Amino acid sequence: MSDLAQAFVEAIRSVIGCEEAALHEPLLEGNELAYLTECVDTNYVSSVGPFVTRFEEMICSYTGSERAVAVSNGTAALHVALQLAGVRPGDEVLMPSFTFAATANAVTYCGAAPHFVDIEPRTLGVDSVALDAWLRSSTYSRGGELYNRSTGRRISAVVPMHAFGQPCEITEIVAVGDEFGICVVEDAAESLGSWYAERHTGTFGLLGILSFNGNKVVTTGGGGAILTNEDQLGDAAKHLTTTAKIAHPWEFVHDQVGYNYRMPNINAALGCAQMERLPEFVDSKRSLFVRYATAFSHVPGVTLLGEAPRRRSNYWLQTVLLDEEVQSERNTILSASQAAGLGCRPAWRPMHQLQHFRTCPSAPLPVTEALAQRVINIPSSARL
Ligand SMILES: *Cc1c(COP(=O)(O)O)cnc(C)c1O
Repeated sequence: MSDLAQAFVEAIRSVIGCEEAALHEPLLEGNELAYLTECVDTNYVSSVGPFVTRFEEMICSYTGSERAVAVSNGTAALHVALQLAGVRPGDEVLMPSFTFAATANAVTYCGAAPHFVDIEPRTLGVDSVALDAWLRSSTYSRGGELYNRSTGRRISAVVPMHAFGQPCEITEIVAVGDEFGICVVEDAAESLGSWYAERHTGTFGLLGILSFNGNKVVTTGGGGAILTNEDQLGDAAKHLTTTAKIAHPWEFVHDQVGYNYRMPNINAALGCAQMERLPEFVDSKRSLFVRYATAFSHVPGVTLLGEAPRRRSNYWLQTVLLDEEVQSERNTILSASQAAGLGCRPAWRPMHQLQHFRTCPSAPLPVTEALAQRVINIPSSARL
C-alpha cells in the first residue's frame, strides 16, 4: 500500500469511527415498517393507494415544486420529462458527458441523441459559460428553433445534472436555455435536499426529476418523481405515466401510447417514512462533510469537494478530488480502500467514452476528461 493510500484509508476510518462502511446505504429506522404494514393490512400494495398521493404532497411541500408525479424510477421520470419538454425522434439533447448512464439512456429512449457538453471544476456540473460559447459557435436558429450546424439536427433541450448533490450553475444554464430557445430538464436525481439561492434543485427548469433508488438520499426501494411548476405539464406527466387512460367508471379508453411507470403504494409508503427523516439525513451528511474535510486536510494531494457560493448541498456522496500529481495513484487508493472494507468508488466513465455513445455529437470536453480520472467518492451514508 502506498503512503497516500494508507493515509486515505486512515482519514476515512478516523471519521466514521468503525472499520468498514459501504459507499451509501439506506437508514430505515423511522415509520417504514409501520407504513408497509398498513399497506399489507389494507390490501393496498399496488398502483392504487393513499401513500402515492401523500408522498407526492410531501415532495411538493419539501421542494416547493407546484407538482410532483411519483413514478417507478428516475430513468422513467427522465424519459417522460424529456417527452413533455418536446424532445422528438431525431433531435439532439445537450447534457454533460460526466453523468450516470441513465441521463443519456433516457435521451436515447426518446429517439434523440445525446450531445455532450463540458463541466466546470467547482460544482462538476455543466459549465454555463462554455455552453453559451459552444451554442454561439456551433448552432443556428431557424423558425424559433435551434439546430446543430454540423449535423443539421434540431437541439430541443438541455439536461443539467447536480453531481453528487452539488447544485450546478443552474440559473445561468436556464438563462442560456432561454436565450437559445431550448427547454431545461433538470436531472436532480442525486440532489433531493440541495438548494441554490434558497430554491430547491429540480425546480428551476421547465421540468426536473428525482430518483429514490436504494443508494439515493431518500429511497422507496426503487422510484422517481417528475417535478414541474406548470399544472398542465403535471397533469400530462400523471396521464402519460399511468397508461394514458381516460378516467371512467368502467371503460378502458386510452388516448395515446402511454407508459406503466406508476409508483406502487408500498414503495410510496416507504418514501413517506423516508421523507419524514430527510432533514435529519441532510444534516448528518452535511456534518459528515465537515468531519471528512478536517480529516483530509492532513492528507497531501487531495481535496474534498465543498459547496460553491449561494448553495446548500445535501452531500449525497462525499467527493474527494485527487491533485493531478497524485492521480496516477487512484487505482492503488481504490484497491486499498476496497481491501479495507471501505466503499470507495471512482466517478462514472464519461458517456462519450462508452462504445455506444462514442459517435454522439460533442463539444470539446477538456474538464470532463481531466476531472473524471481524479474523483473518488467515499463512504457517505447518513448513519455515519
Ligand atoms: C440515480 C440517477 C438517475 C436515475 O436513476 P434510477 O436508478 O433510474 O432511479 C438518473 N440520473 C442520475 C445522475 C442518477 O444518479
